[in-house]
Amino acid sequence: MQPLDRRSFVRFAAALAGTAALTEAAPASWLRPTVRPRFRRDPFLMGVASGDPDATSVVLWTRLVPEPFAPDGGMGKDSVRVTWELGEDELVRKVVQSGTTLATPELGHSVHVEVQNLQPDRHYWFRFRAGDAESPIGRTRTLPAADTMPKAARFAVTSCQNWEQGLFTAYTQMRNDDPDLVFHLGDYIYEYEAGRNGKVRTHHGKEIESLDDYRMRHAQYRSDPLLQAMHAECPWFVTWDDHEVDNNYANDVSEQKNVGKAAFLRRRAAGYQAYYEAMPLRLRSKPDGADMLLYRRASYGQLAELFVLDTRQYRSDQPNDDKRGPLRGEALAAEQTLLGAAQRRWLERGLGASRARWNVLAQQVMMACAATAKDQAGEPLYSMDQWPGYFAERQAVLRHCQQQKVANPIVLTGDIHSNWCNELRLDDRRSEQPVVATEYVATSLSSGGDGNDGEKQRNELMANNACVKFHNRQRGYLLCTVDAAQWRTDYVVMDRVEAPGGTASVRASFVVADGEPRVQTA
Ligand code: FE
Ligand code: CA
Repeated sequence: MQPLDRRSFVRFAAALAGTAALTEAAPASWLRPTVRPRFRRDPFLMGVASGDPDATSVVLWTRLVPEPFAPDGGMGKDSVRVTWELGEDELVRKVVQSGTTLATPELGHSVHVEVQNLQPDRHYWFRFRAGDAESPIGRTRTLPAADTMPKAARFAVTSCQNWEQGLFTAYTQMRNDDPDLVFHLGDYIYEYEAGRNGKVRTHHGKEIESLDDYRMRHAQYRSDPLLQAMHAECPWFVTWDDHEVDNNYANDVSEQKNVGKAAFLRRRAAGYQAYYEAMPLRLRSKPDGADMLLYRRASYGQLAELFVLDTRQYRSDQPNDDKRGPLRGEALAAEQTLLGAAQRRWLERGLGASRARWNVLAQQVMMACAATAKDQAGEPLYSMDQWPGYFAERQAVLRHCQQQKVANPIVLTGDIHSNWCNELRLDDRRSEQPVVATEYVATSLSSGGDGNDGEKQRNELMANNACVKFHNRQRGYLLCTVDAAQWRTDYVVMDRVEAPGGTASVRASFVVADGEPRVQTA
């Protein structure tokens, strides 16, 4: 965990906790009296959430938004006192901790409470009050103590929830599956204008670019009752991909060639801030201008070390103008990086030091080098937005796992709106090499609409790429059931998302055993 720099701690802890003395000039709104408003509309339209748990603490989240499509959320310029209660029972009657915090207009009237001194490996329930309004009750859970080997864990993995292209029906089944944790691996929102992909329902407004735009888009997505209910069910570890800001951006480089770096960084700052405000993240992730620290780790007892990565903010620009390309030239260049130097050092150190049974990289873009087309000369072509465009770094990370004997590396991935199960080698084109890690790619929750089983693509991909063990193009999510002996992944798919009433089924299941990264059909 990164230590907090003291100045930002003082500045922001004061804002969030509303207690400590201010040591430097405060924004004007802090000096106005706080109000205990009577709300004409429910300010808890975005519900509640929790996230980033460890064995003794967790983040409780809400954001006051009585009017989701008003630029200020209908909250005006005043700060508002919000009280919170955390209890041991589902009605929050046996309160074990409570407090008051300040929802400020500077942070979109969001609330991030980091509750400390909790018991490991147990459920808690929480709620908020503001003025005369009371939030729904959320359930959360702490992680098992660091020195214990939990009997089992259940993780759900999701990504890519385009509002216009599909309903979030899959969250109903996910809730029934009762996971301990959810990983959201990016494309939580899409930036596009209303109607671009409208099949099922419509975005509000034009393509989002300003802080107000991003705030309203997050409010619209989080108004979905199924998404909200899943957030109220268990803690989430979230990370972003590209659409939280702009399709396929790379660090400070926009997809649009005519947008300069300074202008793009202003847009990125707006997207990052709205993301922080909308998510149950710790204070360490509070944005600083156009920068935001999102990579982090957590220990699920001795069972799993969880590394949540950020492959957008620090990456070098995609080779080959971000078009599919062969594995040569710039794609192989030593300077190409997805992680950036600091995150790479942090990850390699963390992996080297981990004593966990499973080492999980929860991240955005596919690590397997799977050719998805051939050029006219018959040379295989790879996605340059994914790890193949950053081949040297990919190889270095996998070689590090091999040399440091990192136990059971498991890569969880989103982004490409299809299910994949992959075996990763230093060079995936060379099937004689040993398998180093296993990759499970979660399909989209809704992006792309109903989709299909994709039998033809599956057969082609598996015939052309020894690393690919499964592929499917329906919507859904992954359910991972983990114990000390094996990691099982169920590919949950929906028969439809473009109309209500879709039903879920398990399309395929794969298992890796402790010490054996090759996948077996379950
Ligand atoms: Fe997506
Ligand atoms: Ca994406």
